[in-house]
Formats: sequence, structure tokens, C-alpha cells
Amino acid sequence: MLMLLALVFTLTLSAKPKIRIIATGGTIAGVSASATSSAYGAGQVGIQTLIDAVPQIKELADVSGEQLVNIGSQDMNDAVWLKLAKRINQLLSGDYDGVLVTHGTDTMEETAYFLSLTVHSDKPVILVGSMRPSTAISADGPANLYNGVAALVDPSSKGHGVMACMNNQLIDAKSLIKTHTTDCATFKGTYGEMGYVYNGKPYYIFEPTYKHTTRSIFNVDNLEKLPKVGIIYGYANCSTLPIEAFFKADFDGIVLAGVGDGNFYKDVFDVAVQMQESGTQIVRASRVPTGPTCLNGEVDDSKYHFVAALNLNPQKARVLLQLALTKTRDWQQIQKYFQEY
Ligand code: GLU
Repeated sequence: MLMLLALVFTLTLSAKPKIRIIATGGTIAGVSASATSSAYGAGQVGIQTLIDAVPQIKELADVSGEQLVNIGSQDMNDAVWLKLAKRINQLLSGDYDGVLVTHGTDTMEETAYFLSLTVHSDKPVILVGSMRPSTAISADGPANLYNGVAALVDPSSKGHGVMACMNNQLIDAKSLIKTHTTDCATFKGTYGEMGYVYNGKPYYIFEPTYKHTTRSIFNVDNLEKLPKVGIIYGYANCSTLPIEAFFKADFDGIVLAGVGDGNFYKDVFDVAVQMQESGTQIVRASRVPTGPTCLNGEVDDSKYHFVAALNLNPQKARVLLQLALTKTRDWQQIQKYFQEY
């Protein structure tokens, strides 16, 4: 009996955290013709090859993997997002301690934000990717993968919402932004990095105050599709053709990547007013990479019933508007969501 108890005790002590890696493709799974070539195809290497390339992660955790899709993240879509969120919820409500998602960098910020609103667990979820393909000299994927797992297994990583771990930094989903087309240090946090990984240990500097994961009311577990929301880009002498096309196609919502503090060209403004009146929710965001799009600034949002995106960039405002429209069509309630999330 004593021996049995001792065995159980030893096994419990040595049990490693259970981590699942969900692979979706991207450059981290990319292959080029040679180690020095900058031309490559994203999403070609499978999950087991990625895991085998970083054997050190097996010392940190009981790691297993699955391939959800194998795509360049320019091809990310609502169907994959729904599948991914549902799968992570399933894994984290079971005995998994954390989930690592490998992902292309192009749309990583949107996927991270979507998951931060639709995963309902305080167990950590971390996205990793790379800027150089797996076959390149000095590929950055293996270090990102190792750091991601190292952060996942550390108890201090609970409750921070969904994060990306890239180039030694831990960046929260709302703040995460790709800032350079090719640089390995492309990801920044609009409000700074939330933490960093050093010598295989995460260190956190601040905690997000916006609602996410366990405090989010958005639930996609029983949804098969999301509302249709498009983005219009603003510029001098802007054409109304794209917004009119969205209008005709009966989109549920439009995000304007406006100029300055979410302003848009007068002709586009007129169509936006008509769309809002006929039931398509307009959200004003900005093409300027930093700073809020303020409520009732130069545009009288209260008069037109537009919603101001506040601290979300256009691509993340689109994600929140899609989820908001699964709950309500009331512009004031939607504005409240933009304040809270
Ligand atoms: N366009 C590809 C993607 O986002 C490659 C970019 C990357 O992963 O760095 O998946």
C-alpha cells in the first residue's frame, strides 16, 4: 500500500503539463528551394515535423499535435476560425493545460483577437509563427515554438487572455499588430509588449484590462457561420464603388478604415449614412496605425448611429463587429461592446 502511494506521489510530481499544438500552416511550416532563398511556399510542413524540429519542448511538457488546416494565413476565414475556437474550448475544458496555435503571420492578429473573445478558459492560448521558412538559415520558427511552449507551461501565464509569442515577446491579442512585411521583429504591441520570455521563462509586465476569454459573452460553439462584415479603405478622392458593392451584396456590417480620426470622403459618407439607415451597422476605424478612433469627434456618431472603433484597428474592429452582430443590432449596445472588449 505504502509503495503504491509512493508511486502515485512520484508520478504526480513528475507529470508534465499537457499541451496541445494545433497547426494551421504559415511560414513556420513553409519550405523554400534552398536555405538562402527568400522565395517560399507557406503551409507545407506537417505538425509532427514541426514538433520533431524542437525536441527540447518534450522536456517542458507532454506535447501532442494536430493539423487543423495547412494554409497561408492570407487564406484564413470564418469557417476555420469557428473550427479553431470550438476545438480549443473542447481541449481546455478537458485535461489539457494550454494550447499553442501555429499560424501564418499575415492575419495572426485577427485570429488572436477572435480567439481572445471566443475561448472561454483562463488556461493560456498562445499563437506562434515565423517570418522565415523552416528551411531557412537562422529560421525563427523553432525559437518561437520553444518560447511559446515555455510560456504555456508556466503557472504565471494563466488569465492573460490569448497572446502571441514572437521574437521573445509576449503580446496580448488586442494590442498585437504586424508592423513590417519581412522583419523578424515585425510584431509589436500597440501599447507595448505584455511580457517576454527569457531563458525559457515568461515574465509579465502588465495584464490586459479589457474583457476577454472567461469574461467574454461571445460564444461560437453552436454557430455555423458569422455575420458578413467588410472593410472599406479611405483615401483622398475615394471612390464609392466598394461601399456600394457591399451595400448591394447585403452585408451586415461595414468597417471604415478611415483617414485620420476615422473620417471618410464625403461621397462615401453619404452612402454610409444610407447604409446605416437601412440596417447595416457602420463602424468607424482608422487607417492610421496608432491612436484611438474617438466617439463623437469630427463625426457626430450619436446623430448617425455610427459606432467608433476606439482602440481597435480596422481588421480587429471587423472581428468584434461580426461577434457583436451575433448578439444585437442595437448601435448603442455595439458601441458598449467596443468600450468593453
Ligand atoms: N503569407 C503567409 C502567412 O501569413 C506567410 C507569412 C508568414 O507566415 O510569415 O501564412
